[in-house]
Amino acid sequence: MAAIPSLRTFALVVAVGLLTPGLLLAAPPFPRGTGFYYDPYKLVTLVVSFFCWVKLCAWVDTDTHQYKIPSVFWNGILLAAGAGGFLVTWVIGIFWVTMVLSWGLVSGLAYWYVTVRNRRAPADERLLDKHHFLRLYEKYLTRSKKDADDDDVKAEGHPIRFMSRSATGESEDTRQVERVQQSKGYKAALEMVWNAIKKRATDIHLEPTANDIPVRFRIDGMMTNVKPFTRAMGDAVINIFKVLCNLDITEKRKPQDGSFSAQVEDRIVEFRVATAGSVVGEKLVMRVLDATAQLADLGQVGLTESLQAEVRDVISKPHGLFLVVGPTGSGKSTTLYACLHEIDRFAQNVITVENPVEYRLEGVTQIEVNPKAGKTFASELRSILRQDPDVILIGEIRDKETAEIACQAAQTGHLVFSTLHANDSVTAIARMIDLGTPPFMLSSALMGVLSQRLVRKLCKKCRKRVKPSNETLKKLKVDSDAVRYLYRAFDPVEDVPKKDDEDDDEPEVKVCQACGGTGYLKRTGIFDLLIITDKIRELIKANPNVQDIRQVAIDSGMKSLFEDGARLVVEGDTSIQELLRVSK
Ligand SMILES: [Zn+2]
Repeated sequence: MAAIPSLRTFALVVAVGLLTPGLLLAAPPFPRGTGFYYDPYKLVTLVVSFFCWVKLCAWVDTDTHQYKIPSVFWNGILLAAGAGGFLVTWVIGIFWVTMVLSWGLVSGLAYWYVTVRNRRAPADERLLDKHHFLRLYEKYLTRSKKDADDDDVKAEGHPIRFMSRSATGESEDTRQVERVQQSKGYKAALEMVWNAIKKRATDIHLEPTANDIPVRFRIDGMMTNVKPFTRAMGDAVINIFKVLCNLDITEKRKPQDGSFSAQVEDRIVEFRVATAGSVVGEKLVMRVLDATAQLADLGQVGLTESLQAEVRDVISKPHGLFLVVGPTGSGKSTTLYACLHEIDRFAQNVITVENPVEYRLEGVTQIEVNPKAGKTFASELRSILRQDPDVILIGEIRDKETAEIACQAAQTGHLVFSTLHANDSVTAIARMIDLGTPPFMLSSALMGVLSQRLVRKLCKKCRKRVKPSNETLKKLKVDSDAVRYLYRAFDPVEDVPKKDDEDDDEPEVKVCQACGGTGYLKRTGIFDLLIITDKIRELIKANPNVQDIRQVAIDSGMKSLFEDGARLVVEGDTSIQELLRVSK
């Protein structure tokens, strides 16, 4: 725990130490001096000490506020030390002796303060410890050699700037932004976010290991490693985002979450940040919400013409509940918005309750829930129902209360859209009942359930043609006369031609420019749609058995996710491997 004075603090302390006595001495020597002149050494010492002391007091004042340390106490004792030193010097009058005594006094107090504030400061902001010295060493002595450090990345050329939010989450708080601009890691953070947006990443993960902080982007649903940060730089970058989100930077273990936004070119992109402590350090996950991203219609999300017609049929009814289900990240919200797209938002009163608001829609009242502030889906829904809505979009149903309000609203003349975490459309019914929705209520409210997944589309620039096996054709329910070739993704191991020449020290790996070598580019949806017919309605009301409902649905023509996705494989839009991966 022993700390050694750091350069900066040492300088400050020395300065203050000098200052105080200097101050004290300034007056006394005149009457005592023999020649009635200013001793230049004493005068310089005095002036320098004074400014250093002022600087120390100012620093302690800001620092106490940052770490929520009682500032009156610390300001008080530092001022008292100064005054004490002055008094002593004045009374005793031996300049250099009292000077050293005053130094000792102020240095001791400053050191005491540093130990107190270090207990609250995050590891990389502690002073006078080993790491602080290493940081100083790196900063001042190895700068020229380490110019390539991420801190120097040229992020400034990119049209991106961070915007913070005030504690209320409403307006921009420029102080936070100004604070991070001065910090180590600012440029690296900016560069990382810029890269993520350019690569169409939807999530950014920073998860520390003992030595460094790997950075991973989620692109088209798959995690991809990008250039890692050094431990020190990564910690600094995490801190920048915490400041932007107005989180407690001293809290490194408990989970925290917040948000900030960035102006990227001419649009605003929002970031939802969650931090949590792990054994080796603090990790951070960030979700990228490009609110101005092009809103898709039903065709663009990947529904076939016939499914589009069926969905339109369901959502054109005047009231009832329509659910879009699937696991996290399966494109449910996008599809829900595509449904809203079908509705005349200007002729009807459309209200959404979301967490978070992912797309901004004109002509729609969008409300964001905030459980911390007591604004839950259920509480917001109750107040919305008083605003006479025609169409209500509920971001997600995940508790009994929300499920019941959704059903009640659907029964009382509202069109209600929502998402639910369920494996497929039939199990969504079981899930709603598990949540506590009475079967009779669900049976009368529910109109249809659309289940979906996202499959990655093959990159047309680098996909490879393959002869399908009989087994594959059987699975796809097509015969070998109709389909002679299928496609698979480029394989970086198999498809890179082996070099014959001897000088193969530097094998030339040609990375596809279109997809970055992943073999896939963008995603599309595969679906299964359950229409609640009278027969299914009766089944739900009487005896909600998943097997029975499924059988009835299949008999009336419902296709599975795999069956819907088979067309994409046959058309060469995706690979059989990819379809099997997402539809199992
Ligand atoms: Zn490609």
